[in-house]
Amino acid sequence: MTASSNTPEIKIEFHTSPVSDADRIKALETPGFGKVFTDHMVLAKWTSDKGWHDAKVTPRRPLELDPASAVLHYAQEIFEGMKAYKADDGRILLFRPEQNASRFNQSAERMAMPPVPEELFLKAVEELVRIDRNWIPSGDGSLYLRPFMFANEAFLGVRPAQEYIFCVIASPVGAYFKGGAKAVSLWVETEYTRAAAGGTGAAKCGGNYAASLVAQAQAAKKECDQVVFLDAAEHRWVEELGGMNVFFVMNDGTVVTPPLGGTILPGITRASVIVLAQEKGLKVEQRPYSFAEWQADAASGKLVEAFACGTAAVLAGIGLVRHAGGEFKVGSGETGKLTTELRNELVGLQKGVTNDQRGWTR
Ligand code: PMP
Repeated sequence: MTASSNTPEIKIEFHTSPVSDADRIKALETPGFGKVFTDHMVLAKWTSDKGWHDAKVTPRRPLELDPASAVLHYAQEIFEGMKAYKADDGRILLFRPEQNASRFNQSAERMAMPPVPEELFLKAVEELVRIDRNWIPSGDGSLYLRPFMFANEAFLGVRPAQEYIFCVIASPVGAYFKGGAKAVSLWVETEYTRAAAGGTGAAKCGGNYAASLVAQAQAAKKECDQVVFLDAAEHRWVEELGGMNVFFVMNDGTVVTPPLGGTILPGITRASVIVLAQEKGLKVEQRPYSFAEWQADAASGKLVEAFACGTAAVLAGIGLVRHAGGEFKVGSGETGKLTTELRNELVGLQKGVTNDQRGWTR
């Protein structure tokens, strides 16, 4: 892609009639997940002749799209998910946002889209958080940030589009799972798979999520919180959940997580958990782990805890696993000790309670 390394200034257009203080405060009492939005958004355009231009923070409003926009037909779209947290001392913190910028551009490359300069990505996120900082809930809540990019060239030919929009919206959120810190239940999907070798599994593109919905609906039908995907070739190896990575904790202190091999999303929480676990002296193995091994380890007592992790839920213990042949509990069926410890450490860092020695917060 050409003309993409320019980083434009971000102009600021303030909302002239933002949500009233009373309505905002009311909305922040029970924000739920992803249904309340702040007053502003960031927009920037990319065209093959001008590169990135017209970057601005602007009042949040519906976008007008030509019905032939490439994204509506061929799904050239990527996104990120990250959070801004309010510390008790009033600071506003982002957790490893440069990792999101970098993953965004890896997704862009896979989807034949232009990279967003890291400086533009970070500035866009920071400006939006600064301007809409009154929307960050205190306590357990945070401001979920959703940077995304899509092809808006009006052209029906199948090739990389020549026009894109980069946008960032923000949504105050509470706890992701309705049950709070309660362990979650999983449905092991053996019919539908998420990603095959050479596919788009490592990219955070909308199409991956569209393809996962039928399996997630199946999980809901089985009264489970989330779906677990197995590998596409053999339906044997555990990959990840619909929107989270997965870890297994053994009774000898070994922690196992499926390896990044192009079919799972390289989670930033996953990468952070690996560092925290290693710093605790635990042995972390990134290796293929089969569903058969999972069942055997749960039955023998070797597996003492399992947890899911991602930006939205941070860490969630896995209590119950359902599959076509039955169901089993992991450990006691409750969130385990290491899961709770790691969760508290991460949340402590993200909320500025723990001293950040690794330079993870900004
Ligand atoms: N896997 C999938 C499929 C996801 O959607 C997410 C959420 N981004 C994750 C894993 C966890 O990634 P992260 O820790 O960066 O949020």
